[in-house]
Amino acid sequence: MDFIDKFLNTQKENDCLRSLRAVESRGDGKVVYDGIEYWDFSSNDYLGLSQHPYICMAAKKAIDKWGTGATASRLLSGSLKLHHMLEDKIAKFKSKESALVFNSGYQANVGLLPALCKKGDIIFSDKLNHASIIDALKLSEADFVRFKHNDIQNLESLLLSKRDKYKNAWVVTETVFSMDGDVCPLKEIVALKEKYNFKIIVDEAHATGIFGVTGAGVVEREGLCDDVDIVMGTFSKALASFGAYVAGDKKYIEYLLNCSRSFIFSTALAPSVIAANFAAIEVLEQERCRRIGLLKKSDYFRCCLKELGLNVIGESQIVPWIIGENKKTVKFSEKLKQKGYWVMPVREPTVPKGQSRLRFTISYDHPQEILDDLIYEIKKIATNDQ
Ligand SMILES: *Cc1c(COP(=O)(O)O)cnc(C)c1O
Repeated sequence: MDFIDKFLNTQKENDCLRSLRAVESRGDGKVVYDGIEYWDFSSNDYLGLSQHPYICMAAKKAIDKWGTGATASRLLSGSLKLHHMLEDKIAKFKSKESALVFNSGYQANVGLLPALCKKGDIIFSDKLNHASIIDALKLSEADFVRFKHNDIQNLESLLLSKRDKYKNAWVVTETVFSMDGDVCPLKEIVALKEKYNFKIIVDEAHATGIFGVTGAGVVEREGLCDDVDIVMGTFSKALASFGAYVAGDKKYIEYLLNCSRSFIFSTALAPSVIAANFAAIEVLEQERCRRIGLLKKSDYFRCCLKELGLNVIGESQIVPWIIGENKKTVKFSEKLKQKGYWVMPVREPTVPKGQSRLRFTISYDHPQEILDDLIYEIKKIATNDQ
C-alpha cells in the first residue's frame, strides 16, 4: 500500500491535502469551529433557508406523521405520497410535464446520462461541468467530447465535425458554474439546436431558487423552458435541504424511473427531507425578497473586489477571486480566518492547476456591514502582498 503514503505525502507537500473539520453549530450566516465563530462564506445556503422556521416545522411534522425513513426504494414501497406531491410541484415550478426526485445531485447526474445517452450517441459537455457530470460521461456508453468553457464557437465546430457520425446528440452544461460563478450562453446553445439536431440537458444546481422571476433558474430567466429538454437541479444548495430532481417530458421521466440505476437501486429520501424540499419551494414563492437581496449583495461584493483590481470572475452569488498559487491561496484563506471569515481555498483537482482561488459564496444572511468589513480585510491582504 505504498501508493497511499506516497499520495498523502505529495498532497501535503503541494498544500493540497484535504481534511475534515467538525462544525459545532451554525446559523444566521455564521459557523462555529473549535469554539470560534466565523462568518460563513463557503456554504451554499444562499438564501439563508437552512433554519427557516416554516421549513423546519414541515420536516418535523413529516417525522411525526411518517417516521424517520422511507423504508424502501421508490419502486418497492418507499414511494410516499410526499414524493409524488413534490414531483408535481417541481414539474410546475420548472414548467415541465413531469419530474422525478433523485437522492442527490450526484446521483441524479450519474443516473441520468448513462440511462439516456447510449452507444452510437455523442455527448457534448462543457469543460467545467461538475464532477458528477464527468463521472456520468464515463459511465455512459455514448462517446463524449468536452467543449471549451462557455465557448459557443468551439461547441459549434465540434458539432460540425462530429454530429453526423452519431445517432442522437446531447449538449450538457451547468447554467451557473459552481467554481467560476458564471452563466452558460443558453440562448446561443438553443440557437444551434435545429441546425445540428441535439437535445439539451442543463444542471441548475446553483441557479435554482436564485435566478428567474419565480426562482426556477436561468432557464426561466432566459425564457427557454420549452427549448431545454431536460432540467436537472438540486435541493441541496439554495433550498438548503437534500436531494435532487430531473424535469422534462413525461416520456423521459417514465423512461428514467424504469432505467436509471441510481434512482432504482437506492432507498427513497426520508419523509422529513422531502417535506423540507416541498416547503422550501413554497418559501421561494412567498419570499422573493431573498433572491433579489442576495443578487444585490453579490453584485455589490463582486464590484467592490473588482474595483480593488483583483482577478474576480463570475456573475452570480458565487464570487471567485483567482489567486493562482496554492500556497498563497491557503495563506490568504488563513488570514481571513483570523479576522473571522470562513472561506475555503479551492485548489486542483477541483479547479485547473495554477488557478487556485478563494471562492466566496454570498448568502442573504450576510449583513451589509459584514460585507464591507470583509472587503476591507481583503484589501489589506491584497495590498500587503504586493
Ligand atoms: C453540488 C452539485 C451537484 C451535486 O449535488 P448534490 O446534491 O450535492 O449531490 C451536481 N451538480 C452541480 C453543478 C453541483 O454544483
